[in-house]
Parts: sequence; structure tokens; C-alpha cells
Amino acid sequence: MQVTECIGRTPLVRLERIPQQHGVPADVQILGKAEWFNPGGSIKDRAALQIVKEAMEQGLLRPGMTLLDATSGNTGIAYAMIGAAWGFSVTLVVPESISEERRRILQAYGAQLLFSDPYEGTDGAIRLARELAAREPDRYFYADQYSNPANWRAHYNGTGVEIIEQTDGAVTHLVAGLGTTGTMMGTGRRLKEFNPAITLVGVQPDDAFHGLEGLKHLTTAIVPAIYDPSVIDRMEFVNTDEAFAMARQLAREEGLFVGPSAAAAVVAAFRVARELDHGVIVVILPDSGVKYLSTPLWQDGS
Ligand code: PMP
Repeated sequence: MQVTECIGRTPLVRLERIPQQHGVPADVQILGKAEWFNPGGSIKDRAALQIVKEAMEQGLLRPGMTLLDATSGNTGIAYAMIGAAWGFSVTLVVPESISEERRRILQAYGAQLLFSDPYEGTDGAIRLARELAAREPDRYFYADQYSNPANWRAHYNGTGVEIIEQTDGAVTHLVAGLGTTGTMMGTGRRLKEFNPAITLVGVQPDDAFHGLEGLKHLTTAIVPAIYDPSVIDRMEFVNTDEAFAMARQLAREEGLFVGPSAAAAVVAAFRVARELDHGVIVVILPDSGVKYLSTPLWQDGS
């Protein structure tokens, strides 16, 4: 088996202890899609694999070319892993503020890093990647995860189908954070086709300046081209401190060591759950806490 063949088919883990403490009724199940089980450590392995496969099929990524993209980290790790496994170069534009762990992981896989202005966040990285791609179109395949429909198709063909199978079709709600929005667009569309009564809940940071790496405050950020707001039924805004507190509780009382965006999605899932009598809520947990050890989330020993 090749490493890329290990992408997808992640476990669905039931939260057993903390939902009750947050007022979730006993007949409402909270199931977490444990995406850190992907070999690159996050949900973005799925999107990156689909983007690379389609680009190769369409002759956009040819031998000798370099894959280029702007990424806050996880997609970059996924591209770097696939590039190393399949033998193509990967250049990533990342905000200079990305965590030390992410930087070192990317370098471990042999990716080349270009740094953009940390104050401009992922939007600054996107602008710089666009400039580079326009300047040297024969050198770079610009993967453009924010506009590339292969991003959401990965979830339409993978994540969504898996959730239907793993819940025996009983899923009533999907809760997912919005970054490129690929997870929600693909998984959401698949679930709605299966059962239009399934409620799709998008999760955003409550402020432009936030610590929920991987998520976007869509009201103030560059809106991804693949984003179609009409797909989503309900939007929940989560505060960074609230998400951090949930991340700590998930680690200590459920044994689930997740990243801040996963914890934010759990906060939103509990809000939705408290309004129900019964239901099966699937929450996407995009990555683990490992890459955030040097960030304020875990630094104060709290
Ligand atoms: N959480 C994390 C940790 C991520 O890296 C990402 C990807 N940016 C997301 C959530 C959001 O996923 P998507 O891009 O599919 O909206």
C-alpha cells in the first residue's frame, strides 16, 4: 500500500462524557470525524490528493513542473507529502506567522517555503502566490485550493459518502468549520442529496483577529470562489477563548487531542444539540493538537 492510499476512511468517534455537561440531551449523539488519522495529519490530505490527481489527468501538472499554492499549513503538508511520494516539487507561500511545528514539518517533507506578510494572514499568501503563478506559468501549476472544484469534490466523493455509511444513514446534522469551505461544500452537497432534511451548520471565528487556524472570518476575508453560501443552512460564530477551553476539555475528559478549529466546531455542535430532543450530529475534527503545542492554546500549562 502506498502512503496516498491511506488517505480517507477515517473513524467516527462518539463523544461520551462532555456533551451531557454542556446540556446536550441524552438522545442526541455527537460523533466526531477524526481527520487527523489521515497520513499527513489532517483533513486536507483529501483535498490535496484530489487536486493533484485531477491536475495530472488534465495535463496541468506535468513532469518537471512545481506545484504552487498558498496555504496556512495543512494543505501544504498534504501537498508536500504527496509530492515527496510521487516525485514532484512543491513550493508553498505561507504567512510568516505559521507555527514552528508546521514550518518544520513542511521542511521535513522537502517543500520549498516562501513567506508572506504575517499581518496579511492567508490573504497575503494568496496574493503573493497569484503573482508568482502569473509571472511563471510554465514553471508552476497553481493549485489554488480556494478556487479549485477538486477541493470540494474530494469531500463529495469521500467524506460525505463515509459519513452516510458510518451512521447507517442516520446523520441529521453536519457541523464543519469554514476555511476554503471545501469540506462543507463537498460533504454538505453529498449529504443534502442523500437526505435534504439534513441540516448543514457552518462554523466561523467571531472576529477577523482570531486564533482558530484554518478557519476564515468570511465577512472580512477574501471569499473563496468555491464557496456557495446557499449550501449552508445555519452559521455559528465561535470565540477563540471558548474554542481553546473546549480543546482542553476534549483532551482531558474525552481523550481527544484536537486542534482549535475542531474544538470550535464542537462548541457549535453543542449549541445546535441543546435545541434538539434527538439527533445524530456529525462534527468534522480537521486535525490534532500536536501542531499547536507552541501556540498560546497549550503554552500556559492550562
Ligand atoms: N481546520 C483546519 C485545521 C484546517 O487546516 C482547515 C483548512 N483550511 C479547515 C479547518 C477548513 O477546511 P476547509 O478548507 O475544507 O474549509
